[in-house]
Amino acid sequence: MTQKTLPPFGSVFHEKMPFSQYDGQKWSSWQWQPSHQLMMHPAMHVLHYGSACFEGIKAFRQANGRIVIFRLDKHVQRLRQSASLLNLPVPEEALVREMIMAAVAAARDEIPEAPAALYIRPTLFGTDANVGKAGVGSESAYFYVLVSPVGDYFQVGSPMKLYVERHHARCAPHMGRVKSGGNYASALMWQTMAKREHGANQVLFCPNDDVQETGASNFFMIDGQTLITKALSEAFLHGVTRDSVLQMAPRLGLKVEERDFTVSEMLDVIRRGGEAALTGTAAVIAPVTSFVVDGQEIQVQKQELALKLRQALTAIQYGDAPDVEAWLTELA
Ligand SMILES: *Cc1c(COP(=O)(O)O)cnc(C)c1O
Repeated sequence: MTQKTLPPFGSVFHEKMPFSQYDGQKWSSWQWQPSHQLMMHPAMHVLHYGSACFEGIKAFRQANGRIVIFRLDKHVQRLRQSASLLNLPVPEEALVREMIMAAVAAARDEIPEAPAALYIRPTLFGTDANVGKAGVGSESAYFYVLVSPVGDYFQVGSPMKLYVERHHARCAPHMGRVKSGGNYASALMWQTMAKREHGANQVLFCPNDDVQETGASNFFMIDGQTLITKALSEAFLHGVTRDSVLQMAPRLGLKVEERDFTVSEMLDVIRRGGEAALTGTAAVIAPVTSFVVDGQEIQVQKQELALKLRQALTAIQYGDAPDVEAWLTELA
């Protein structure tokens, strides 16, 4: 499949998915289920109290025919952390890995070539059928792995206009590192407003002037030869792409600073000719083209270093550069 013929991001799935359920005692051995329907009790915990988390991972088809998954361990670890923070049953590492590998292997022939990929969406949620459990974690759960062939989420060269939200947070400050649907729901009001009123592509959340992240991606800026991004805290999602960029940046001659910074410092950097970009599995590294702040649009003059980082990262993923950090897991 070529990039052009791919359907919109995440809308088409391999026909079956590995599925396991937790009954309060143990996880069932996983089985294949059709990926287009799911039986649910209308009182399920997830539908009422939002006990759901997920992961977003990519598998790549390299030119030599190898199929590789990017930083699988890190994603498995984060899914288990999200589950634990939501008081959900935590699936064993081996089960999660096995189900992900099985899902990718089943879709092997559907994995597109560069610059496209297979997007992997492990999904976990609470299934107790009891609306009385508002203040209690679900004791039972479903876990399954959807896979979807995808093109680039943000095409290089397309505009990335960020609306700078100076007051509201994306989600509750203690929930930021949980990859959970509820956090997306809580950001939707500002995203919708920013799109409708400013034609913005994404919202950069900067509560109390603290530059954090966008609705679904982490954020960094580059001042001269220094890459600056917020240090890890409970308030935002600890991206695997962010971590990868921080490890790669020194190889491209960039110094790295993990620290807090304000909107006014960021705007100074941009006005001096600095760069900014979003990072995420879907977005890869998407350079920012302009910011909307207090009703004014500020253009970003350069995208050069962000694109260089993007190039360096995708070269590892597609096997065009050595995988020195051992980030890739090859499908047998
Ligand atoms: C998934 C996600 C990211 C990016 O994380 P990656 O591991 O790089 O894909 C950033 N912010 C939010 C809110 C996310 O949900």
